[in-house]
Amino acid sequence: MVMGELTQETEVLVIGSGPGGYAAAFRAADLGLDVTMVDPGSRPGGVCLFKGCIPSKTFLYLTELIYDADRAKDMGVSFGKPNIDLAALRSWKGRVIDQMADGLASLNNRRGIQLLKGKAAFESADTVRVSNSEISHIKFRHAILATGSQPIPFPRTDFKTGGRIMSSTGALALADVPKKLLVIGGGYVGLELGMVYAALGSRVSLVELESRLLTGVDQDLVQPLHRRLNAVFEQISLGTRVLSMEERQDHVRVTFEGEIEPAQQTFDKVLVAIGRRPCSQDIGLENTKVVVDEKGFVKVDERQHTDDDRIFAVGDVVGGMMLAHKATREGKVAAEVIAGEPSAFDVRAMPAVVYTDPQIAWCGMTEEQARAKAQPVTVQRFPWKFSGRATTMGAPEGLTKLILDPANGRILGMGITGRDTEGLISEGVLAIEMGALAEDMALSVHPHPTLSETEGEAAELFLGSATHILSKSRQPKNDK
Ligand code: FAD
Repeated sequence: MVMGELTQETEVLVIGSGPGGYAAAFRAADLGLDVTMVDPGSRPGGVCLFKGCIPSKTFLYLTELIYDADRAKDMGVSFGKPNIDLAALRSWKGRVIDQMADGLASLNNRRGIQLLKGKAAFESADTVRVSNSEISHIKFRHAILATGSQPIPFPRTDFKTGGRIMSSTGALALADVPKKLLVIGGGYVGLELGMVYAALGSRVSLVELESRLLTGVDQDLVQPLHRRLNAVFEQISLGTRVLSMEERQDHVRVTFEGEIEPAQQTFDKVLVAIGRRPCSQDIGLENTKVVVDEKGFVKVDERQHTDDDRIFAVGDVVGGMMLAHKATREGKVAAEVIAGEPSAFDVRAMPAVVYTDPQIAWCGMTEEQARAKAQPVTVQRFPWKFSGRATTMGAPEGLTKLILDPANGRILGMGITGRDTEGLISEGVLAIEMGALAEDMALSVHPHPTLSETEGEAAELFLGSATHILSKSRQPKNDK
């Protein structure tokens, strides 16, 4: 330590104030611990609030309105072509973020948590140095590492502010609406932001290295989205690799290999959405006993404990499903363990939602996971063409499916594609966490007409008591 430096002691130091970090800090303070949180940003929220979940969903809500207005034509209501005011859109996004960030800052202050602006790096297993901060040195009893993740750039290119090769952060800045946009990566970030730009008027091409979109998601859930994207995007090329990109004055020149013609094309802008890597470098982990894997993810046990006694880690930096609600749960576990509570990360059904149009949501075991480990399961599918509510919404393309234990009907997984799946999936989460059987879901009365009835009827299919669809045993032999 350098003479004259300001040092401070704290019981719990939280490094990073995203949904993992601030949830940990808030929980620790509520459990009576003295907490300091450090982040380069001046308000809590992290990637999720400032450049992830919240800005993307703000734009996706408007995207849905645009697509819905267009669909209403078939139902007898026509709107004119939408008039897009980009400055107003950006300002709306800013107001949404500000409102939430101010709310979090106020919750933080009212809990008496000290929020320090700066970047922390471990100097030892119980001290950090904080750069660009009025307090430069902190000694802690416990630390919770929640530094999150950052977008992976395409090889030999980088993300310049205002450049034509954009990360999700650049895309969410919405500087303009490029005439021709290339999206690299068919994961949820590429699909969601591709849909936003397509709704705003870009001609979007998407390339994906794998032979499918949304790898890891059951393909029967992805098919309705793929059909819709075929209409919304100009081109989708699977099994296609981008070999090189060259950013020029007024375009980006891209060379491809795979199922795309021609092999060289130019675009006004490119969104690179090929994944994220953990922020575990340059934070002094070499001065601790914390262990990272070959990709840089911090190793933790089910109590979020790293290999260093005093240090815990949560959120994207530990890998797994890199989602905000996973980070939040882990943050709470770490805080509770530090406070001496018998807490552990013991989640059976981590939900995931893709906010495209249609949306896709799932939780618990997927059908593909069951098949991969040769676990016998019964899969019940309720197609939304049999749902009254879906019909009133002109959205018959959806599907609700349950993955069940054939022996006793225990619900192991749920997957849904269609409208508003974000709201529907929580019934599956609760069912799986409670160890519910198909009977529990079937006998819980679902209000009519709602999309939630599709969940009840999928469970009734297992029992042979569904109303709006014929059970297999009742289907005439020639009825496919
Ligand atoms: P982060 O939110 O990444 O926060 C980490 C914080 O640590 C940052 O503020 C960073 O500045 C700070 N930090 C880094 N290094 C240091 C240091 N040395 N010292 C101090 N502070 C440091 N998830 C969902 O669940 N739903 C969604 O709809 C969703 N949409 C997304 C859309 C996009 C475009 C993106 C990019 C992500 C989306 N995510 C979504 C993922 C979600 O944002 C992350 O899973 C979540 O933010 C992880 O939280 P975290 O607390 O681990 O880290």
